[in-house]
Amino acid sequence: MPIATVNPADGETLKTFDPLSDEEIERRLAEADAAFRTYRTTTFEERARLLNAAADLLEREASGVARVITTEMGKPLTAAEAEAAKCVKAMRWYAAHAEALLANEYPAADDVQDAGAVRAKVCYRPLGPVLAVMPWNFPLWQVIRFAAPALMAGNVGLLKHASNVPQTALYLGDLFHRAGFAPGCFQTLLVPSSAIESVLRDRRVAAATLTGSEGAGRSVASIAGDEIKKTVLELGGSDPYVVMPSADIDAAARTAVTARVQNAGQSCIAAKRFIVHTDVYDAFAKRFTAGMRDLTVGDPMEPGTDVGPLSSAQGREDLEELVTDALAQGAQALCGGRRPEGLERGFYYEPTVLTGITDRMRIHREETFGPVATLYRVRDIDEAIEVANDTSFGLSSNVWTRDEAETERFVRDVEAGGIYFNGMTASHPALPFGGVKRSGYGRELAGHGIREFCNATTVWRA
Ligand code: NAP
Repeated sequence: MPIATVNPADGETLKTFDPLSDEEIERRLAEADAAFRTYRTTTFEERARLLNAAADLLEREASGVARVITTEMGKPLTAAEAEAAKCVKAMRWYAAHAEALLANEYPAADDVQDAGAVRAKVCYRPLGPVLAVMPWNFPLWQVIRFAAPALMAGNVGLLKHASNVPQTALYLGDLFHRAGFAPGCFQTLLVPSSAIESVLRDRRVAAATLTGSEGAGRSVASIAGDEIKKTVLELGGSDPYVVMPSADIDAAARTAVTARVQNAGQSCIAAKRFIVHTDVYDAFAKRFTAGMRDLTVGDPMEPGTDVGPLSSAQGREDLEELVTDALAQGAQALCGGRRPEGLERGFYYEPTVLTGITDRMRIHREETFGPVATLYRVRDIDEAIEVANDTSFGLSSNVWTRDEAETERFVRDVEAGGIYFNGMTASHPALPFGGVKRSGYGRELAGHGIREFCNATTVWRA
């Protein structure tokens, strides 16, 4: 994929970038290595001062950055502004909390005496330069949720961003530099994915985190595994959205629309499969379909737009293939199922609701990365859980119920990294985020996230 800004709203190539040469990559690796040796010795107070300075800069520049994001990947401008604000909040949160999250731990003296220790503690030390391979769908947020904890822990970062968001990638490298971080603490590598292997194998790179597709995750994890380097993988999702009879059906249907079409449906934690108890299925389907039909699809720079274009022509084709396959095998479209009229130049797709899904259809097994929902009718809680778990993914999940016993049952049995009741999944700095099964492993955010790239060091003193 060329490294370029292509406006998804009209398909126009606005700017192309040359990838870094091997010599330039080497220079940046050396710089990261040198920066780490000093940066790792800085205090939490100093790191927090720098991270807060970066947050202040981003806050001041948010509206300009948001325009770049919208131009590069097509999300509505209001959503891009909200993304920038969320990043500022997460940076300040880690600046305020990192020291406590990484405080030394002291096992009880009684517990360690038979290990011969008079005093023992566990301290969290940084690992070194961490390679971050990141996607375009939340091009600021995905990077910040890695960078803020990594930098607060004393690591340094190397960002390989998606090839279609180069200007956002360059902005991020520049942001940390302007905030006062020493050269080498956070650098953007404008390189194609084919350059990742040699960077990851380089002895100076300590670990890697990847947010992206299953294929990219498998590749990075196998190279890192070969090098015995730590990885965190945040991969795809096909999150269930279960609606039980005790739910507030109006609220469930309204939230379902947002949960499905946020970011034009291109979110790993978007609700994708809507699993509805038969007693409330018709009422939910009617309201949900009406809500999907009412959305305004159009120019993401316009304030009234709910759903912008998909990020690329390829992304739309992949989605269309899943819908075509489902319709050919007997699924029915309650709305959408095609490209909207009058928006032919961009990569738009109509919000779509499909019913009559069977397990032979690709859409039942694969992730729909666009505004397409699948509806399932289930007869009871057992079938709801069975359908919810009938996926290779396990990122997050949503359940609407006001029944306590049902709530406990879903918590026990749904195979996912998160369960959100009577609402939709959203990441938050204080809550761990990540998946199970083919959605990846490891956690980002909260204390779990900051400790992923730390060396939990046992200190034993006789
Ligand atoms: P993608 O193709 O996997 O791209 C993500 C990143 O990986 C990009 O930087 C890309 O570089 C790089 N990459 C691609 N192929 C690679 C390979 N073989 N080896 C190493 N790196 C490679 O993902 P996408 O389709 O753009 O993004 C959507 C996917 O990301 C979806 O599956 C979505 O669910 C997932 N996602 C997950 C989360 C989460 O937190 N779990 C969050 C957001 C998105 P190039 O751009 O240069 O190819």
